[in-house]
Amino acid sequence: MTVSGKRPRKVRVDFQKKRTPRRRSAPPTPHTWEDSEESAAATQERLTGKGDLTRRRTVLVEGEEGAGEPRLAVDEARCLRGRVLYAIGAQHCAVQTPEGRRVECVVRRLVRTLARDARSAVVAGDEVLWEPTGPDSGVIVRVEPRRSTISRGSAHREHVIAANIDQAVIVVSVVDPPLKPALIDRFLVSAEKGGVRAVVCLSKVDLIEPADVQPIAGVYARIGYDVVLTSVVTGQGLARLRELLQGRESVLTGQSGVGKSSLINAIDPSLELPTQEVSADSGKGRHTTRVAELLSLSCGGWIVDTPGVRQMQLWNVAPGEVEGYFREFRPFVPDCRFPDCTHTHEEGCGIQRAVHEGLIATTRYEGYLRILLGDAGR
Ligand code: GDP
Ligand code: ZN
Repeated sequence: MTVSGKRPRKVRVDFQKKRTPRRRSAPPTPHTWEDSEESAAATQERLTGKGDLTRRRTVLVEGEEGAGEPRLAVDEARCLRGRVLYAIGAQHCAVQTPEGRRVECVVRRLVRTLARDARSAVVAGDEVLWEPTGPDSGVIVRVEPRRSTISRGSAHREHVIAANIDQAVIVVSVVDPPLKPALIDRFLVSAEKGGVRAVVCLSKVDLIEPADVQPIAGVYARIGYDVVLTSVVTGQGLARLRELLQGRESVLTGQSGVGKSSLINAIDPSLELPTQEVSADSGKGRHTTRVAELLSLSCGGWIVDTPGVRQMQLWNVAPGEVEGYFREFRPFVPDCRFPDCTHTHEEGCGIQRAVHEGLIATTRYEGYLRILLGDAGR
């Protein structure tokens, strides 16, 4: 028997463990959608050997077994394509059609079930198949495999910040909130793992002496990242940032209050994003950016403005993997005496030697240690 990669096959999936049903407030759209397939007949409840109540059901998927994520088998003739602009919670999102029309969609329950380890099944930037349910509404029936992601850990689940983007612009202010190189390193690891190019943007440079920002800028420029120093007050670096964004799909990530929305407004004033005042007492800033949203830039390209994160926890990065995401470590790893060297305490460690010789920046090595030793990512 020949098995075509396109022919649907059956797999069994676990539903989320039963939770106490929560009362939901009315959805932001008037459309509701009944998933007729998800009837009681298709869903079975059974007791596992351990006595846990699980719910399993059979779904049709496409693609060879073991070949990446399964894609739900859907009737493509009834579906349209689109790109997710933003998602609100797990169920509602705005989708842009290839012709530039905007539709409001709900997410089919099965799609959410398959993504049960994720904070949301559908994120800004996702390519989706959807079925129309009205003139400006529809149901997302499949999320296509993501070619790149930028994500973090959030309450033991993966929070994919954005998908299918070319680059992550990691925005850190030189002061206010204070610069934390360890945070840059975490975002860089996330970008390296997710397969997106990274740009380091040091913002609010009007607030300090130029000489004080050079050392940290040098650390990242020397290892091959594009570094741009910006100020929306003096206009420094904005032309260069625009050049880096033009024609690309980028996500702007960084703590709340570092000036992401101000930068986007400076690059494209027509977007008129709300900005915030840093609260004087905490220095942490208040949240103003709502949800991650894919925005079209008038200079060409797309940008995802993200809600500021207070912490950047890495998602699903094994300790042994971390060295591989510190690009300047790679040439020195073969010098380590032990093949399983963690570069923390071992004798004859090529990485520690390179740090002593000034070939690897101390702050980067510290960033590595902090990730390995698992601090909270502050
Ligand atoms: P976001 O949370 O990252 O989007 O940050 P906002 O764009 O809302 O900016 C936070 C605060 O920093 C606001 O009070 C801005 O006016 C201020 N800010 C943003 N960029 C600059 C800058 O280049 N220089 C200075 N001095 N302040 C800035
Ligand atoms: Zn080592």
